[in-house]
Amino acid sequence: APKVVIIGAGIVGANLADELCSLGWTNTTVVEQGPLDLPGGSTSHAPGLVYQTNPSKTMAKFATYTVSKLQSLKDQDGSSCFNQVGGLEVATTEARLHDLKRKQGWAHSWGIEAKLISPEECLKLYPLLNRDRVLGGMHIPSDGLALAAKAVQLLVKRTREKGVKYIDRTPVTGIARSDGKVTGVVTPNGTISADIVVCCAGFWGVEVSKMAGLTLPLLPLAHQYVKTTPIQALKERKNPPNSASLPILRHQDQDLYYREHGDFYGIGYYGHKPMPVNAASLGWTPSTVSDNNMPSRLTFTAEDFAPAWQESQELLPVMREAEIADGFNGIFSFTPDGGSLVGESPTLDGFWVAEAVWVTHSAGVARAVAEVLVKGKSQIDLSDCDLSRFEGVQLSLDYVSETSQQNFIEVYNILHPLEPKQSPRNLRVSAFFARQEQLGAMFLEQRGWERPHWYKANEKLVKTLPREWRPQERDAWSSKFYSPIVAVEAWKTRTAVAMYDMTPLRRLEISGPGALDLLQQACTGDVSRPVGTITYALVLDDNACLRCDIIVARLEEELFHVGIFNPIVIETLSRSARKQSQHSSGKWAAIHEVTAGTSALGLWGPHAHAVIRKLSEDDFSTSGFPHHTVKRVHIAGIPATAVRLSHVGEAGWEIYVNADVGLRLWDAVFDAGQSEGIIAAGRAALNSLRMEKGFRDFGSDFTSEHTPAAAGMEGLVAPSKTGYTGANALASLVGKQPEKRLRTLTIDDGKSVVMGKEPVFQHGKAVGYVTSAAFAYTIGKPVAYAWLPSGVREGDKVQVEYFGKRVPATIAANVTVKENWMDDRS
Ligand code: FAD
Repeated sequence: APKVVIIGAGIVGANLADELCSLGWTNTTVVEQGPLDLPGGSTSHAPGLVYQTNPSKTMAKFATYTVSKLQSLKDQDGSSCFNQVGGLEVATTEARLHDLKRKQGWAHSWGIEAKLISPEECLKLYPLLNRDRVLGGMHIPSDGLALAAKAVQLLVKRTREKGVKYIDRTPVTGIARSDGKVTGVVTPNGTISADIVVCCAGFWGVEVSKMAGLTLPLLPLAHQYVKTTPIQALKERKNPPNSASLPILRHQDQDLYYREHGDFYGIGYYGHKPMPVNAASLGWTPSTVSDNNMPSRLTFTAEDFAPAWQESQELLPVMREAEIADGFNGIFSFTPDGGSLVGESPTLDGFWVAEAVWVTHSAGVARAVAEVLVKGKSQIDLSDCDLSRFEGVQLSLDYVSETSQQNFIEVYNILHPLEPKQSPRNLRVSAFFARQEQLGAMFLEQRGWERPHWYKANEKLVKTLPREWRPQERDAWSSKFYSPIVAVEAWKTRTAVAMYDMTPLRRLEISGPGALDLLQQACTGDVSRPVGTITYALVLDDNACLRCDIIVARLEEELFHVGIFNPIVIETLSRSARKQSQHSSGKWAAIHEVTAGTSALGLWGPHAHAVIRKLSEDDFSTSGFPHHTVKRVHIAGIPATAVRLSHVGEAGWEIYVNADVGLRLWDAVFDAGQSEGIIAAGRAALNSLRMEKGFRDFGSDFTSEHTPAAAGMEGLVAPSKTGYTGANALASLVGKQPEKRLRTLTIDDGKSVVMGKEPVFQHGKAVGYVTSAAFAYTIGKPVAYAWLPSGVREGDKVQVEYFGKRVPATIAANVTVKENWMDDRS
């Protein structure tokens, strides 16, 4: 097995050593700066509350695995590392009470038992609650307390027996490398050689990653935790020391959580101002660490805790007899979107990180990293926590600091799935931005890009909508970040013509004598077709699971324009290109991302031809410019690349120009389109139209957990092609039914729009979950995609659980996305 060095013996590092052992890799050394029995990182003082429910399926699955692993991890007297006291989230506001229903939906979607309970039932479970404050709650019987520090000690013991070496009181001070590959870690006692280094350094991750030349978007923040003096009512519960028997308790309306420590309480608080910490300023961990003296523990600032103490006495009146016995400001990691950071450095092969991981998700993340290292792939999709999900503008210190602090503030807030950041904004704008502002664009932000969701300028058309296109009334939640203008934009696209800003979609130019081989190896389509053709295909992993869909336009013999929907694949392509040229120097391929330097305009609708004819001498007729072809053209005198495909199922082109002439292109098309009824349209209409067409989005609709057949995308595999990544595995799947399939549902009442991630019930049982949803204006009903058992048939009746209500829905015909899917024949 390769030689692995893990930096850090916290809950993540120890779990990783263990998970590697279970997959047969025991040639591992764990290097820890602190003393191994109490290393002094966040794990050393973590109170260990494990709430598994999460909007992210990935994070919820990490949590459920962590619970089962900690339960099975037992010391000599048979006691495990998990105290399954259950979890109780109480609501003290109507808004929270309502939102618990949504949360219960996530639990149902991800297979976690969760029950909404009345105030009386809350009191029965938790008699110390103030009945006057509690409006209701959610009970999750399988939640509980992780004994994180004990788990680390047991994992150290177990892995040592299998051959893992632990070196403590030894800081890693550098990362050794040669030829773009890691070769070891540098310590004051010499270099320890390694083929793979994994940074599990907790909130020191930024410092350690810097040694490898990697900018980690992580901010250490202090978070207050206090312990009270003993409380009579807890004494009477006769808990063993430091143990608990009441459920762990969350009071999110006041940013608070609680656990018992034997006969006193522990209280955690997120309501104070964010307190950023520079880990470098803490210095190395001393060689002796104690409960009260460790680098991750800063001095308690009592004044910041004052509101929490008052609120705690309100919710739990038994606290009125107690005092704060001990408190600290404990440090742990936050990130710009609150997710963990997992993956390999894009610039240094063999340097991996598993960072910003809560105890709650620790074993799950560790298993995923071990699986990727040993088997090349994790069974749980990692998109939500992949290191490469951040763009360059999101890696600046200012951005990381501001957004991570915001995440701390919002950690318990009720957030709408479309809710944009207030700040920082306008980080990336397309060349069309000035015009979009003039048209009253409602911008949402994604990956730093400002993306129009709809345009206020189209509001005047709402009253002209034909009856069958008129939008339905929506409930308060689905009305947020929504406007009836979306109906106008969908209508105009289907009946006239609309222009869409497609600039933020990732685009690459791949060139050189090895470009064709690289792409042939990477995707399921045959890209060796003549110059001027387009291939819509899939990128698979070795197990024939989906990594993304890809659009390859052959511009010249050795030049391809590539649209890609998953940033991780760009890194994979770069690595493959490097390997290919090492193997055969004549087969080099250059990969150049052109997204930011170009503008992309989607011009779609039945009048698109009429508009373009006014602007170009080039042949845009269907015979001169057939579906799935690409051409270099001039539009209003602007050199452009036009591809004959559509994301909405209408005639038209995606047009790419250099960013400097983007604004000119917008103006020319907008002016020429006036007589054809052109409008600018936004993402909300696009989402609705793409769902009507059957388009699936990587990340939300399908992930690396799915095969092409399961996702209804087997039509994008060239039948006679062999030799590409995943081809052999795909061949072995022939004739096998996937267990689940992505299906389309229509909502029976014709108006209830759901948002995604809701559970789907059949015969009273949760059998799947919604991925995306939208109102489909063309058919006048809401639609949703959902992962459901293969046995579910067209016409079957199911229910989508939306805020606790079961909304009846019907399974639509199976969709198979085909190679020619992107043409305009719907
Ligand atoms: P750590 O435990 O910090 O381990 C990293 C290790 O790396 C450290 O031991 C450190 O010494 C070592 N290291 C760093 N740099 C180097 C170097 N250069 N060389 C060698 N070794 C190095 N999470 C929950 O899930 N539930 C909770 O209830 C909860 N409550 C919390 C309450 C508080 C007050 C705090 C502060 C955190 C809480 N957390 C909770 C978060 C949780 O504690 C952390 O996310 C988790 O412990 C991180 O584990 P880790 O292994 O990544 O990091």
